[in-house]
Amino acid sequence: MRPTLSWTPDEDLPPGTTDLGPVADALGAGGVLVLTGAGISTESGIPDYRGQGGSLSRHTPMTYQDFTGSARARRRYWARSHLGWRTFGRARPNAGHRAVAAFARHGLLSGVITQNVDGLHQAAGSDGVVELHGSLDRVVCLSCGTYSPRRELARRLEEANPGFEPVAAGINPDGDADLTDEQVGDFRVMPCAHCGGILKPDVVFFGEAVPPPRVEHCRALVGEAVSLLVLGSSLTVMSGLRFVRQAAQAGTPVLIINRDPTRGDRNALTRVALPLGAALTALTARLGIPADDQERSD
Ligand SMILES: [Zn+2]
Repeated sequence: MRPTLSWTPDEDLPPGTTDLGPVADALGAGGVLVLTGAGISTESGIPDYRGQGGSLSRHTPMTYQDFTGSARARRRYWARSHLGWRTFGRARPNAGHRAVAAFARHGLLSGVITQNVDGLHQAAGSDGVVELHGSLDRVVCLSCGTYSPRRELARRLEEANPGFEPVAAGINPDGDADLTDEQVGDFRVMPCAHCGGILKPDVVFFGEAVPPPRVEHCRALVGEAVSLLVLGSSLTVMSGLRFVRQAAQAGTPVLIINRDPTRGDRNALTRVALPLGAALTALTARLGIPADDQERSD
């Protein structure tokens, strides 16, 4: 579940460090399971919910209950998300995403789990990424269960809403642009092309459970990992935090790189408080992974 959005750091949390040594050691040992959050995508121009310039103060994410319970909420969601999709389509992976892909290519990782729905790990060349909260790339019909590509729906929405060109006040990590009700206007929502049912992005909304088989898959990955490396997540929501707790309970070292304190700090061996792109680039250098190896060649 992702219902809790508020978390205030306790004053007695261990402080962050700038020493990347323990993270380099863990990567050098191999078998690292990486868990990433919105913080790894901020350098690609997708703002985090919280932290500096965080969008949470002005943005209330759509909940599953709102979405399924109200046609008006769905109109609002799809108008905003349609606009946000254009921005996400332009986002490119950054040095952090490329470093994670390079670690994997060099056999240092046992897996990658991301809480992000932006597809940037895959764009950077990471394979087999577990998308814990789904992906904006896909759409699912709530009636017949058919999955279809988002770009197909985007095309239908373009056709149904000619001249829809509002200027958003901002964009959020769930692909939701900030629009006023006036800007949403009479935006036309598209039904499922097969059965006329309600279409939903294949992402886990706040208030919605992560599909149990996906959770079990992640639990198995945590169980097999030599260490767990959290990148750019405040671990505010239980969907990610539970894996940190699982690892800690099993005695598996947890290492975190996140500028701000996280809800998992108490379970971690260390929290490095550095910008992710710079930290991960420094780690690739330290591990002798050449910089020119960080771009996907195919
Ligand atoms: Zn359908």
